[in-house]
Amino acid sequence: MEPHILAVDIGGTNTIIGVVNQQGNVKNRLSILTNGQEGRTSLLDRLIRAIQKTIYLSTDLHIVGIGVGMAGPTDLSTGVMHNPPHLPGWNNFSLKESLENHFSLSVFVGNDATLSALAEYKFGAGAGNSYKDLVYITVSTGIGGGLVINGIPHFGSRGYSGEIGHMAIVPRGPRCDCGGNGCLESVASGTAIARDARDILSSGVKDSIMRQDVGGYLNRITSLVVANAARQKDQVAVEIIEKAARYLGIGLANIIVALDPDIIVIGGGVSNSLDLMMPSLTRELDKRSTKWLGSRTQVIKSYLGDDAAVIGAACFASSSLYSK
Ligand SMILES: [Zn+2]
Repeated sequence: MEPHILAVDIGGTNTIIGVVNQQGNVKNRLSILTNGQEGRTSLLDRLIRAIQKTIYLSTDLHIVGIGVGMAGPTDLSTGVMHNPPHLPGWNNFSLKESLENHFSLSVFVGNDATLSALAEYKFGAGAGNSYKDLVYITVSTGIGGGLVINGIPHFGSRGYSGEIGHMAIVPRGPRCDCGGNGCLESVASGTAIARDARDILSSGVKDSIMRQDVGGYLNRITSLVVANAARQKDQVAVEIIEKAARYLGIGLANIIVALDPDIIVIGGGVSNSLDLMMPSLTRELDKRSTKWLGSRTQVIKSYLGDDAAVIGAACFASSSLYSK
């Protein structure tokens, strides 16, 4: 019987659970609200019930292990997490140990962006190529990243690898959630795009169709509102998207000169606006890396979308089980 992995992606908003086969196909997928602020016991109870339900629905599938992806650094051997950003109360807690006690299956927990990189490498944007190195970047509320180097996910010595959202881009730039200033996340994330639009419109210096789009309620402006206005050639929106794209381009150029990857894959909600960002983004890449590296590193949109981390968690669990 073909072995399957029960895979979980604990995201900031939703937690996805599914059963993944060796070809990276997700079956019996279900999604629950993460609601991390309700505390550890609540999420853990709901997660265990959702896993039980998925196992019940999958009696015809041979489940051999559990893989979990989540934001924040995790000790790969013990599964102990260090300050996961969306899960207050989970610091120093081992989800691995807790799930292993419940399900008598081996559990493997890793950083979600690193696992997404692995999934894109094996089954997504990197599949069918002879790539060695792939960088995955998710641009949404924040910016996260993961690396596959020589075909192997690179977690870093403490599980922090790929946190490129906190790479410094603008000295004395906007305040970032990490406590720093001018991090890539603070100037190029969906949150930064929406904030810039609100700041410009509330200053009253320029006007834009975005004001009508949100019925005058500037707090309803999201990065999607800005992207939609930019598609209608609204000048304020176009400039905001281009500015974020330039900063993202600077961040990518820094990664390229440090790692020289074969490909960079962009996921997260803002990747739906990647077409709008590409001209400014590639101008920065060409100015800062292509010129002297000889050719431009490929930058493309994620193939696997919201399922990348679930598929990656399964690949990671599978390869960890079979390398034992
Ligand atoms: Zn930061």
